[in-house]
Amino acid sequence: MKIESVAENEFLCALRASVVKFASIRGLTFAFLAYDSDMRAMVLVQPNTPLRALEIPAPRPAANEILIHVGACAVCRTDLHIVDGELPRPKLPLVPGHEIVGRVVAGGRGARRFKLGSRVGVPWLGRTCGTCPFCRGGRENLCDKAEFTGYTRNGGYAEFVAADERFCFPIPNIYSDAEAAPLLCAGLIGFRSLAKTGNARKLGIYGFGAAAHIITQVAVFQKRKVFAFTRRRDSAAQRFAISLGAVWSGHSEMLPPEKLDAAILFAPVGALVPQALKALEKGGTVVCGGIHMSNVPQFSYDLLWQERSISSVANLTRQDGMDFFKMAPRVPVKTSVQTFPLCQANTVLDRLRNGKIHGAAVLAP
Ligand SMILES: [Zn+2]
Ligand SMILES: [Zn+2]
Repeated sequence: MKIESVAENEFLCALRASVVKFASIRGLTFAFLAYDSDMRAMVLVQPNTPLRALEIPAPRPAANEILIHVGACAVCRTDLHIVDGELPRPKLPLVPGHEIVGRVVAGGRGARRFKLGSRVGVPWLGRTCGTCPFCRGGRENLCDKAEFTGYTRNGGYAEFVAADERFCFPIPNIYSDAEAAPLLCAGLIGFRSLAKTGNARKLGIYGFGAAAHIITQVAVFQKRKVFAFTRRRDSAAQRFAISLGAVWSGHSEMLPPEKLDAAILFAPVGALVPQALKALEKGGTVVCGGIHMSNVPQFSYDLLWQERSISSVANLTRQDGMDFFKMAPRVPVKTSVQTFPLCQANTVLDRLRNGKIHGAAVLAP
């Protein structure tokens, strides 16, 4: 492993891109090249330190795995929680990134699902055991031995990634790589969160980032009324929500003009749980869509009384993915993306940390 300066890395980036372009015309050459070359990657060596631009060997696909040339990888708040040490025991060193779109360039033993050159998406759920009670009960999202892309296995902040083909999805043609990337987590986990709200007509969404901007479009398509809650004084995000079909937007300490049937919390702020409960109609539910949240403060039982409930969403199942990718082109969900070169991953994470990204940020190698 060799450490490079960012400038050297940018130069290599351009050089490698032209080699890959040439090689992709010749499928087999490409696979050979991918196997034998190093690749650029942004690597987390230790939590709470910036990612490092490194040259590491391209992965070799194991049984049931495909090797993917990454076209785009979206940046998720979960990546930030991993980098900031808020999620326990990541694989180290780690290539983060779990919203990956790319093309298949090689397959390991038994991998036959996708042809060479086909475009696939890699989500957060990287692999499950298939035998634990959760897997057997149709709840593989809760698998006891699940592997997670960009957390317990290497992800897509790199030129190549190896993924278990059984957990990848074909990507609808209407999307470019960058447009499709945020669908892989912001879209999928958002969609699972939306499903947890049942048939709620009046829906509050707290935290208007990547997931919210996708799920608002699905909710409006399903004829729900969306009430968007943002950070204080974030009028850009409030306008953005209205432009996507929300009927109201305001900051998260406000109460909406009507009682909500359900609320989804995408912001990782525990104080929003009682805040959202206050906005709920009787029987309503608060769904926490994130993997990490600051502590939920104490609150009066009155807020929960009358059959209000609080639940969380963990990970995704492959069925969620199939359902979502069937639905997204019908809406059609349009993603608003800002694309950055891979070597700017640290800058992008910083902007996400400070609420400076509207829509979704995507890295392109
Ligand atoms: Zn399992
Ligand atoms: Zn994610």
